[in-house]
Amino acid sequence: MWAVNMRQFKWKQAESPQCPLCKDKDETRKHLFSCQNITAKSNRKIQISKLSKELRRIQTAPLITNHLIRALHQFHNNYPVSMANTGTANDDTEKTHLESINAQLRLGIDNLLSGALTTHLSSIQHHHIKTYNVGKFTSLRSWNRSVITALLNHANDLWQFRSTALHDEALLTREALLREQAIALLLLYKATPYKIAYEQRRLLDRTATYLRQTHLRNVRSWLSRFNLAIEEEANRAKNGRTDIRHWLKNNGNEGVTVSLPIVDHVEIVPESSISHVEQVPDPSIDIVEPVPEPNSIPRSGLLTFDPLTLSHAPN
Ligand SMILES: [Zn+2]
Repeated sequence: MWAVNMRQFKWKQAESPQCPLCKDKDETRKHLFSCQNITAKSNRKIQISKLSKELRRIQTAPLITNHLIRALHQFHNNYPVSMANTGTANDDTEKTHLESINAQLRLGIDNLLSGALTTHLSSIQHHHIKTYNVGKFTSLRSWNRSVITALLNHANDLWQFRSTALHDEALLTREALLREQAIALLLLYKATPYKIAYEQRRLLDRTATYLRQTHLRNVRSWLSRFNLAIEEEANRAKNGRTDIRHWLKNNGNEGVTVSLPIVDHVEIVPESSISHVEQVPDPSIDIVEPVPEPNSIPRSGLLTFDPLTLSHAPN
């Protein structure tokens, strides 16, 4: 279906079988969906969040949304896709539904991304529409059509991203890095908000999702304001005018989140419905991008701002 480089190379259409993003692995179809290049990962998060939103918009049963998104996270991150644990079902209906989820998952995520949807999944949705009377918004037939379209769009968006990157690689890499740096900075300072000038602390209200999805000029503007806010507070601290006491006093009614992880767009799958697989991370945790290791952010002269060079960055 897709002209990945591995295939193109075999057919003498590409110079190399390599992935154009990471330049590390041969670009197979599987690799297209699980490349660990930082821009590819960042883009997949955006696309998964988009897909999740779309599934909700078309009134998908939460059980379906949760398991599909969870399975996609595992698939895209090179983890084995785990089955739903039917042993913990509360009743026969739930058990049947979990078995239906597994029937779909056993077909493989690759098939899912090709729009191969089983009738098992439709039957869960049918039950959902009947039970919660959402039929007036979405009929089963239009849901079937919409969900297949959403999955195909997801796969196609990933393919488009890779193809764009192939032709405009420098731009995309720079943009993605800038976003990742902004996110790293946000997460870093969420734990130490008093290092941001008091008047500017609303900058910490932004989420990682916002910084990934908003227009690039907003990211640049956020970064430069954030940079100024850090500098201002560092200067005050140097002059003995730090306002940490002011912050502590006001923290109660200001509602500053100090160190809570940001989970903003992944629905939590009830733990009881996931079978235990040792090496699979909780998908709700996975979405919180860990602060990158300092050496995983390549230095680039093109970036306007590099938080790693800040002498007063928190430890
Ligand atoms: Zn790759």
